[in-house]
This record gives sequence, C-alpha cells and structure tokens, in this order.
Amino acid sequence: DRADYDSEAKSICPFCGVGCQVSVKVKDGKVKYVEGINGPANEGRLCVKGRFGFDYIHHPHRLTKPLVRRDDAPSKDLDVDPANPWTHFREATWEEALDRAAHGLADLRSYYGGKSVAGFGSAKCTNEEAYLFQKLIRQGFKHNNVDHCTRLCHASSVAALMENVGSGAVTASFNEIENADIAIIIGANPTENHPVAATFFKQFAKNGGKLVVMDPRGQGGLERHAWKNMKFRPGTDVALLNAIMNVIVEEKLYDRQYIEGFTEGFFEFRDHIRAFTPDRMADLCGIDAETIREVARAFADARAGMIFWGMGISQHIHGTDNSRCLISLALLCGHVGRPGTGLHPLRGQNNVQGASDAGLIPQVMPDYQAVTDAEVRDLFRHIWRGTEIDATPGLTVVEIIDRAYRGEIRGMYVLGENPAMSDPDVSHARKALSKLDHLVVQDIFLTETAMFADVILPAAALPEKTGTVTNTNRQVQMVRPAVPSPGEAREDWRIVVDMARRLGLDWDYTHPREVFDEMKMSMFSLHHITWTRLEAEGAVTYPCRGPDDPGQEVVFGDGFPRRAGRARFTPARVTPPAEVPDESYPMILTTGRQLEHWHTGSMTRRASVLDAVEPAANCSLHPSTLRKLGVAPGGMVRLTTRRGALDVMARADRNVAPDMVFLPFAYVEAAANILTNSALDPFGKIPEFKYSAVRVEAA
Ligand code: SF4
Repeated sequence: DRADYDSEAKSICPFCGVGCQVSVKVKDGKVKYVEGINGPANEGRLCVKGRFGFDYIHHPHRLTKPLVRRDDAPSKDLDVDPANPWTHFREATWEEALDRAAHGLADLRSYYGGKSVAGFGSAKCTNEEAYLFQKLIRQGFKHNNVDHCTRLCHASSVAALMENVGSGAVTASFNEIENADIAIIIGANPTENHPVAATFFKQFAKNGGKLVVMDPRGQGGLERHAWKNMKFRPGTDVALLNAIMNVIVEEKLYDRQYIEGFTEGFFEFRDHIRAFTPDRMADLCGIDAETIREVARAFADARAGMIFWGMGISQHIHGTDNSRCLISLALLCGHVGRPGTGLHPLRGQNNVQGASDAGLIPQVMPDYQAVTDAEVRDLFRHIWRGTEIDATPGLTVVEIIDRAYRGEIRGMYVLGENPAMSDPDVSHARKALSKLDHLVVQDIFLTETAMFADVILPAAALPEKTGTVTNTNRQVQMVRPAVPSPGEAREDWRIVVDMARRLGLDWDYTHPREVFDEMKMSMFSLHHITWTRLEAEGAVTYPCRGPDDPGQEVVFGDGFPRRAGRARFTPARVTPPAEVPDESYPMILTTGRQLEHWHTGSMTRRASVLDAVEPAANCSLHPSTLRKLGVAPGGMVRLTTRRGALDVMARADRNVAPDMVFLPFAYVEAAANILTNSALDPFGKIPEFKYSAVRVEAA
C-alpha cells in the first residue's frame, strides 16, 4: 500500500550526477519506497538505481560504531569480513576513536611535517562537507595534497574546459537537448550511466533530432535511436574529431562571425587541422571518410548542436586533448551560448560537480581559484582567519598513492573514497595503503579501503543528511534527511569538525547552513543562491542573476570568462595509448560501470533489488571472440595484463568489438583495477582506465 507511510522527505538520489529529485517515503523508521518528483533535471523520472537502490542504508553491514584496529590484529590486508571484523578491529567510543584518529595524524605532522599526511574527500558527500574537508587539509596540514574522485573521471575534461573556455562546468544543461537539432554523444553510455538523461536524449531522437553516437565499445541503448553510429577504434578520438573538423575547415562550413567575435587562436588551429583529412584518418579511426564528411556537414549546418561526453573521452593519457577537440568543434560551429547548443561533460558521481566547485582539488581553492594566485591566497587568509595557503599546487589521487607507496606520505584521512578498489593498478594502491603509519577512514561501510585503516569513523548516508549537492547541470539542490543514522553514525561534516578541533583548529560550525554561508564569501558561483532559497525552492542553477532568477541553463552567450571574453582553439595531436596490444597481450581492455551497480559497488551491491539483478562479476566479449576461445556465454575467462590477472564470468555482447573486452569495476572478487594501467594524462593527471593491453583465455 503506497499510501501507508509515516513521513516523507524531499531529497536527491545518491548515485549519479543527473541529480534526480526524490521523495523518500518512510515507514517505521525505514525507507519504504522512493518516487521521483519534479526536479529540474529529472521532471519526475527515476532509473532503477534511484527507484530500487535505497535499501543499502539499512544493510546489516552499516557501520554503527567507531572501530579501532586491535593491537593484536593481523597485518593490514583485504582479509576482513565486513560482517565479522573483530579479529582486526574492536569497537570504541567516539571520544577514543576521534582522539586516536586525530592524534595519529597530528603526530605525523609533528615528526615528519604536514606533507606526510594527505586527504581524499568524496563526491558522495555534500558541498559543505567537501568544503570543510579541503579546508581541514589546507588549514590543518598547510598544503594542498587533497583530492577526490574527479581525478579519476573528468579531471581531463575540466583541464581542457578551464584552459579554453575559462570554466570547468557544463555550458548548458542536458535538458537543453530539446532545443537542439543535432547532438553528439561521444565516449558515454548514458543508458547505463546517466539513465534519466538518456530518456531525454531518446525523446530528442524520437522528435526528429539527429543523434550521433560515437563509441568504440558499442552500446545497445542509444545506438538504436541514433541517426549515425560511429564505432571508431579505441584510442583514436583525436584522429576522428580532427578529421571532422578538417571537413568543416576545408569546406569553410565554420561560423566565421562567431569565431571572429568570441574566439582566439583560429588561424593556428586551421593550419594544424589541415593535415587531418578524412581520407588519411579513416583507416586509423576505422570510420570511412564519407561518414566523417556527412557528420561534419550535419553538425556545422545545424542551427543548434550540443556535445555530450563521458569517461570514454576523459580516461585516456590524451583525455585533455580529446576534450580540447570537442571544445574546438563546438567553437568552430558557434554551438555555444545559445538555446540548444553547448558542451556537456556528463558528470559521474552525485556531487562530483559540487565537490570540485567546493575546492576538493589540489590545484585550486573553492570556485577553481588557483592556489598559485597571491590575491586568491589573500582572500582565503582573510576568510580563514589568518591561514597561510600553500602556493604550491598539491598532489593528485594517483600521485598521493604513489608517494604513500614510496613512504613519503605516511598518513591519510580518507572520507568516503575507496582507492583500494578505484585506483588504477590497485595491487600497487593496496600495498601503498598497507604501508601507511596511520590511516583514518570515514565511511558508511567497512570498504576495501577501510580494511587497511587504523581508525574507522561511521558516517551518515546521504538520505540521513542535511546539506546541498550540485549536479551535472550546475543545479545546486537541497538534501534533506529522511531517516536517522543507524547506531552512533554521524554526519560527515560533524565528524570533520570534531577532527579539526582535535587537530588544533578553531572551528565552531554548528550547522551546514553556517558552512554554506562561509562558502558564499569566496564562491562567486553561489551569488544570489541562499540556504533559505534552497530550502524553499529545492534547486537553483548557477550562475544566478538575482534573487528571483532560477539560474542560467545556458551560459557564455555574451562571451567567456577568459581574457577579452574569448574562448580558445587549442590544437591536438594524435597520441597513441600508453600501451598497445602485442603478441603477449593482444586485445584491448576497457572498464566502466553498468546500469545496476554504482562505482566500486559498496552501496549498490548492498541494495537488495540491484544485487539480485546483477549478483556476479562479469565481463563482456563479442560472441565470435567467445567462440574462438571455446567458452560458452556464462563460462569463465582469465584476463591478464602487465599488472595482474583475474578470472571472471564472460557474457556474449554483440556491441563489443571482437578485439575488446569490457569489465565493470564494481566487483571486489574480480576487481577491474587489478588490470588497469596507471599511466596519466599529463594535464588532467587522469589514468588511462579506458585502454589496457590484455590477454583473454579460457579459465
Ligand atoms: Fe539516480 Fe542517476 Fe538514476 Fe537519476 S539517473 S535516479 S540520479 S542514478
């Protein structure tokens, strides 16, 4: 009986960056069911995760008391049973756990200096929590070695956007597609990863819009609705995109007036692009020259076009170059700043946009203000009561783990991240975590990373919190608690404040609203967005022009936040992947998410319906590849790369190219990142998750 509930709370889905608004119905202190409400992004819709993925918060594995490592615990490793961790950990009071956690980090600070301690924050927390966490590291340890999962998803996109457009956020909401004539979806599989956004994309195609899907892995969902499918060879994004732009340049299809009015660097770019003819690039990228020409002409001739991309673009050593190409393509055609136009990197986690905006990034303070800028440091010295900000950009996620492996970083505070599953070459990452002198993990479950911890602090889940989050559309939205936290679990902001006080910081926050108000002092993006408005309206989009303005869905119609208001063309060269197939490793491994499971699986594998639908680790191979291997669908295969090997069940999937294997990264029993390469994009410092050389055999 859906009418039989005790209370309801309007909140936000805790999973992907679409940021669907939900009404959480509660009966007898537990979530009974969830339904979509009319948020600006979802308009009442939800996907399977939003609808059936909430009962993870009531799972018996929830951490309900602080835990500390036992003095007689076995060595740090993954052999901890989350249901029975008592050989490794014992319960502690909050007082004891916080004292141990903070004093352990403070001791390292005293003996080895502040840079011996680093912090990983989380895109699953609220904006206020992300802000407080980066402040704690910057103020408490006097450096910028604080990062979060944006490094593993869209760091390269943000690097390219900041460089060429002057802002790391999307230029238009995904809902703007309804005003477009053509849309390119490249390196993204929204049907699985941004399912509610995908419903808008399908509607666009059904209404006659031209959908162009460019994806080397292949996908069942949007391809069926596409005007053109371009299944190009993995790792050849720059070749394909440059060839498209070559057609636009050579046939003079570009928007001359727009280029003259709003851009710089066109002539150098034009000269560069001339070498990338479709005939030359066709073999390399595996798309025939005529199709390249057809798509180029359609995109350039369209009245309004949008470009969406995902981690198929960003997670390469040339991820920043890939995004530079997409930006140049939009600028060439003047497809920015008007209804139905725009650049939109589809953000992954629920609050990765907000956590990035809040400064949970090693190079920049809140609102992407560079730590190298003396005026920025002056501003924060003033707001943070005399704190000197380190002028040196900090280390990124993979760099921090590497320094831990080398013994240069000796302590870490990890809030809501799971590097023991999410880092590339995860055997290396786990070894690094095991070497730390002091590891504090704050989470809702005993994650694989928490298994290496000295102190584990039990946190509240999103449906138990008050705060704000920001979705892929730049919509700042209010999160409200539906149920109380189990046992003694506490909201992350409260734990971070307690840690800060024990680390000697003079913090006196008593409510997230006070944190939000402090954020507004340095974040121009929050101008005209107040806590009171968010409580009343649920969501406001930034930038916002006034107290009654719902915010700007489309930005940069009158220029860019760069020198002279001009965006820039940055030429990109073709760079091969860091390792290419050879005799020993003849196929290509690519990794990603699947519809039912979220990232490292810590939440969705504990959601009963989602786990029932997808209970076991699997990989996808083309039927012809399976036949060659002599493996039936459902049989086991062994995947081996230069980093390690694992056995996993194989599925037949006609969408996957015959020389490729797709492996989701949600399963600890077949952890994809045992196999992946930690080679980094030099600009975004993002690892090449989307391309590793692999050997596939019958297991
Ligand atoms: Fe949640 Fe994303 Fe699904 Fe919306 S599309 S319900 S935000 S997982």
